Amino acid sequence: MCLFCDIVAGKIPSAKVYENDKVLCFNDINPAAPVHVLVVPKKHFDDIRDMSHSEEGRMYMGEVISAIDKVCENKSLDSGFRVVNNCGKDGGQTVMHAHFHVLGGTKFTEKII
Ligand code: 5GP
Ligand code: ZN
Repeated sequence: MCLFCDIVAGKIPSAKVYENDKVLCFNDINPAAPVHVLVVPKKHFDDIRDMSHSEEGRMYMGEVISAIDKVCENKSLDSGFRVVNNCGKDGGQTVMHAHFHVLGGTKFTEKII
């Protein structure tokens, strides 16, 4: 079990924004923007590449996209937002359970790419 598996299992509390049987979305404990929600598949995948390797993982990826839309609705991110996925050590991933950062509530001026 990993940290996010424990959060999904309810062993560690989280501030839920949206949930269904496939994904859990909750506020990041150390927000990098006024809105910073983590979209987490309820099944453990190490990272986005791991998700791509099975039919089930790709199904979960579809659920992630749908959940991002729900988070946008819930947080009224009508004028835009960013989705960030840190993958692997060099990508800056610190929790090795695939997850997607939804960042918003501000106008981002700094371009990463
Ligand atoms: P990563 O660096 O792997 O892309 O993102 C991990 C994220 O998880 C970080 O933004 C960090 O603040 C967040 N995080 C780490 N531990 C916890 C926790 O116990 N609860 C919540 N809600 N977020 C966490
Ligand atoms: Zn996990």
